[in-house]
Amino acid sequence: MEKHSKDDWRIDALKTIKDDKWEKSKFKTIEESHWEHEHCTLCWRKISEDPSIGEEFGYVNKHDQWLCETCYKDFFEKDSGDTQANPG
Ligand SMILES: [Zn+2]
Repeated sequence: MEKHSKDDWRIDALKTIKDDKWEKSKFKTIEESHWEHEHCTLCWRKISEDPSIGEEFGYVNKHDQWLCETCYKDFFEKDSGDTQANPG
C-alpha cells in the first residue's frame, strides 16, 4: 500500500529536527537585513515581531530553524506522557 497523507512531508521534515533542542523565543527583526519574519519549518506559518505578519513566539533550534507553537505542541510536547506512535 502506498498511501500518502498530506502530512507525510511534515513527518519527513520532522525526522531531521526531532532530536534538536528547541527554545521558546520571541522573533526579533534583524535590522540590517530587514528580515522581519521566519517560517515554521514544518507548516510554513509566519513567525514575526509584527503580530499582523505572523506569530510573535516560536521555537528555535541551534540551526536557526523555527517552529510555530502549534507544530511544537503537536510533535514535541506530546512526548511527555504517551510515546505511542499512531500506526497506519
Ligand atoms: Zn508550524
